[in-house]
Parts: sequence; structure tokens; C-alpha cells
Amino acid sequence: MKILAVLYSGGKSALAEPRLLSTVENKLGMASWLKSLGHEYIVTDDKEGPNSVFQKELPDADVLITTPFHPAYLTGDLIRQKASKLKLALTAGVGSDHVDLNAANEKKIMVAEVTGSNVTSVAEHVVMDMLNLVRNFVPAHEMAKRGDWDVSAIARNAFDLEGKVIGTLGAGRIGRLVLQRVKPFDPKELLYYDYNPMPADIANALGARHVPDLKEFLGQCDVVTVNAPLHEGTRGLINSELLQHFKKGAWIVNTARGAICDRIAIKEALESGQINGYAGDVWDVQPAPKDHPWRTMQNPLGGGNAMTPHYSGTTLDAQKRYADGTKDILERWFKGEAQEPANVIVEDGQYATRSCGYNSNYRIGCH
Ligand code: NAP
Repeated sequence: MKILAVLYSGGKSALAEPRLLSTVENKLGMASWLKSLGHEYIVTDDKEGPNSVFQKELPDADVLITTPFHPAYLTGDLIRQKASKLKLALTAGVGSDHVDLNAANEKKIMVAEVTGSNVTSVAEHVVMDMLNLVRNFVPAHEMAKRGDWDVSAIARNAFDLEGKVIGTLGAGRIGRLVLQRVKPFDPKELLYYDYNPMPADIANALGARHVPDLKEFLGQCDVVTVNAPLHEGTRGLINSELLQHFKKGAWIVNTARGAICDRIAIKEALESGQINGYAGDVWDVQPAPKDHPWRTMQNPLGGGNAMTPHYSGTTLDAQKRYADGTKDILERWFKGEAQEPANVIVEDGQYATRSCGYNSNYRIGCH
């Protein structure tokens, strides 16, 4: 079989650090294994346009492996016009929104991902970003590096997480882990907005209250963390209209997908002081262009921005987990065995009902 992987280039870092598995250089640690099984394995980071290695190799590929960190966008047109042999589109990580799932269903291509593999990594990052924003860390650190010392200029916009209302938009694997991790900070209240309320025992254990109306939910939160997938119902959801329903001066942490938030609306809300901060690691296009406004936007006091490149879910620990999970999915695929149900997004032309239990270490209850 021909297996095509689109990974990111790791450069010198990947040559020096073999645990950077999701790089072109280290090939998810699977090159010798795939070769020993007689498969052809093509790995590239070249993913844009018709002359890219991705698009040139796609017509012969049986399996496509991609990551959300350097997404090769498998659009409907590519699926219909070029991916004539493709049977499996496998995301090494979590979040397959870079694949047109309806078109995959039309062509009966299975789409699978390594569910749960990096959710703890992301949840930790969310907590870090919340603290970064609420405590006004970035301007304080920049001041220290500059050699300046003006405590009041920082403290005038620094607060404690204790006593704040913290809410997650989306309360699946990551959302629940975030709630669990921020509870010891003694927030005033933990809220969540999701299609369905969690089972009562889980909500009670987390100490979280369901707010079924999105605008009511946003109006109560001091800190909003976005943990819903990108789909037709969430693309551009946080736009200038919805931002008016946030509590004035709220902080937003979005590690889900950049395109859930409107690029310009976020910049304007931050610059006007409607929100006090925005952080996360996901961008509406990746890699983000050099002039993307989220790189440099600030609140009126010169802070409120803790954006990073997309790395929350690709710590070395996470890379090991999703590389192992990718290999497991492939192994089952080669042997014709059933996949773990939680890993399957679409199969046999239908959206899968993702069940619980892939790896209980990464889950708090089922939904
Ligand atoms: P998950 O377990 O599937 O949880 C997502 C939750 O959001 C589900 O409960 C889902 O409900 C809910 N939801 C869907 N649409 C919603 C909406 N419009 N409003 C409110 N809730 C909604 O997924 P996860 O593992 O927590 O991951 C969440 C997302 O994080 C992924 O989809 C991915 O985009 C992102 N992520 C980012 C990184 C990173 O490195 N930054 C890494 C991993 C994941 P239903 O189940 O009923 O649809």
C-alpha cells in the first residue's frame, strides 16, 4: 500500500531530538516498521497548491496521515477529483476538521483520529493560558527582560483566578479536564455550555453547572475556555455580535480551533476593552501569516495577548501517545480488524457514534 503522511518540518530540532515524532524527519517513528511490512511510505511537509507533494502523491495514496498542527486540507474537491484510491484518512492527533467529512462519506473513506491522545496536554495549556491572562504575566515578563521595574503598571490589570466564574464552551474530554484542573483554584463558580448536560454524578464531581443558553452562559463568565470542535455550527461562532454578550473585560482561551473565533472581531474586542485578554495556540490558518493580527493585538493597557504557535497538544509526551495511537489504527487497518469506536469519525459513508472508553485515563465520564 502507499501511505502518504503530511507532517511538519522539524529542522535542526528534529535531528537533535528523536522524540519529536510528528516531524518529517522522524516520520511518526514508523518508517522502518512500514518498510518491513512492504508498504511505500511518503512523508512531506509540502502541502499547499496543486504542485505540492501532497497533491501530487494523493491520487496514488491508499492511506493519508495528517496532523492538526500542520494541516493538509483534504477538501471536497481533492477528495472527489484526486483521492481516487484513498480508503483511510488518519489524523495523528485530535480534530479532523481539515478533512471534508461529507465528501469522505460520499466516497466511503474512513476518517479516524487518535481520540484522547493529547487532551491532558491541552487542558494543562488552557490552565496556563488562563493564569497568563488573568495574572497579566506576559507584560510583566517582558518588563523584566527589558530591565524596567514598574509594579503598578502590571498590577493595575492583574487579578486572581480565585473567585472568578470560569466556563467551558464544550464539555467533552478537554473541557472536563479543564474544569477538574481549575477547581482547586476556588473559582466562584464553574459553568459549562454544551448540547447535552453531563450525567449528574460527573457534573457534581466537577462542581459544574450547565447553562443551556449560550448568551446567558457567556454573560456570566469571567473566563471562557473554548473546547468544542470546529464544524458548521461553530465556524465563526464567536463574532462581533456574540462578543457583545460576553461579560465586559472577560478573558478568552481558545485552544480548540482558531476559525471558531472571527479574526477581526477578536482583535477589535480586545483593543476596545470589551474583552481583557485572548490566548490560545490555534489560528484560522496554519501556519499563521506573519501579519496575522492575533500575533500583536493588545488590550488598551498593553497586555492581554498570550498567543503561541499551535503546540499545546504536541508536547513530547503527547507525540508519543498519538504516534503510538496512529500505529495502532494502521495495524488494525492492515489486519482488517475493527477500530476502537471512539477513534472513528466517519465510516462506511456515515458519521460514527463515538462511544466512550477509548482510554479511561483521558476521560472523565462519557457523553
Ligand atoms: P470531545 O471530547 O469530542 O468534546 C467536544 C465537546 O464539544 C462535545 O461534548 C461536543 O458535544 C461539544 N460540542 C460540539 N459542538 C458544540 C457547540 N456548538 N457548542 C457547545 N458544545 C459543542 O473533544 P475534545 O477531545 O475535548 O477536543 C475538543 C477540540 O479541541 C477538538 O475537536 C479539537 O478541535 C481541539 N483540540 C485542540 C488541540 C490542540 O493542540 N490545540 C488538541 C486536541 C484537540 P457532542 O459530542 O454532542 O457533539
